[in-house]
Amino acid sequence: MINVTKTFLPPIEEYTKQIQRAWDQKWITNRGPLAIELETKLKEYLNTSNIISTTNGTIPLQIALKLLGKKGEIITTPFSYVATTAAIVWENCTPVFVDIHPEYLTIDETKIEAAITNKTTAILATHVFGNPCAIEAIEAIAKKHNLKVIYDAAHAFGVTYNGQSLFSYGDISTCSFHATKLFHTGEGGAMFANDANLYHEMFYSHNFGHNGPLAFYGVGINAKMSELQAAMGLSVFPYMGAILTERKKVTDYYNQNLNFLKLQSLKIRAKTRWNYSYYPVIFEDEKVLLQVQQNLNENQIFPRRYFYPSLNTIEYAKGDVMPISESVASRVLCLPLYVGLEESNLESIVSIINTILK
Ligand SMILES: *Cc1c(COP(=O)(O)O)cnc(C)c1O
Repeated sequence: MINVTKTFLPPIEEYTKQIQRAWDQKWITNRGPLAIELETKLKEYLNTSNIISTTNGTIPLQIALKLLGKKGEIITTPFSYVATTAAIVWENCTPVFVDIHPEYLTIDETKIEAAITNKTTAILATHVFGNPCAIEAIEAIAKKHNLKVIYDAAHAFGVTYNGQSLFSYGDISTCSFHATKLFHTGEGGAMFANDANLYHEMFYSHNFGHNGPLAFYGVGINAKMSELQAAMGLSVFPYMGAILTERKKVTDYYNQNLNFLKLQSLKIRAKTRWNYSYYPVIFEDEKVLLQVQQNLNENQIFPRRYFYPSLNTIEYAKGDVMPISESVASRVLCLPLYVGLEESNLESIVSIINTILK
């Protein structure tokens, strides 16, 4: 069976070697030496300061919205994983959707200003599939209207824009290290901020608000990454180079062999070093997509409809109609992309799709 992704697992001895360290120290959570070491390695790899490792990629969104959203209206993208919208509603903020760019698939910056009201507090945009949002334009709008910018950068591990980590943009950026993501710790994530005061607030927020054992800076939650998660991260981390090389190979194969006369691929923004995190293709209509999906499924190949449905159509989000996002969401399929996907598998996938597109 071929799924859209397959979790990269290092040789188990390398994982147990890291786990052994936690056993030796009898220390398995609360920012132990493994979590600190992982943060240090990631800081260096990503060339960012101010990283906080977390237990998943969703609580960082909630912390960001708690600190910056302040129960206001949050301008957001309808084309993302459900966590982006759910976090807004969970934090008692109101999602206000702005449609996406038809080729970059990120929020359409030219439509943001029309959605701003006196209740707007922040913009929460997703670097979807690791493709950067229109960062300069969003920054300028935020500055002009005194809004905060939060990036859901769950897909953006290792991406650089303008030569800098994508995590270094916005007031807060968040990432996911879930097992299905490019770099993973089983469950896990991180959040980033440049501003020292904001970083301080994020830091105490992720650890119950503690200021030492007996005092509190403010209210907090528990978002700490455990040593067991960090052990996984430390054993996956040395393979990042190999993972990217393998994923680029798969991506190149699709790029060279799919019939793009009847298929739209993701347009990566200029000045971006991308991370091959997903391989989305957009069909002419949903009927073709369903036919392709059925034929692939019959051959034990299971792509995923990332991202469907368009988040403005979810009942609790109470969103307006978003024609481009709804159209793209109904026509987009992410093809299998992972380390260990064989060329013979790629040949079948491409041949099944191209046969239908003929
Ligand atoms: C995976 C994902 C999340 C949630 O991350 P978890 O680590 O699974 O909590 C949030 N946003 C986007 C866009 C994602 O793809």
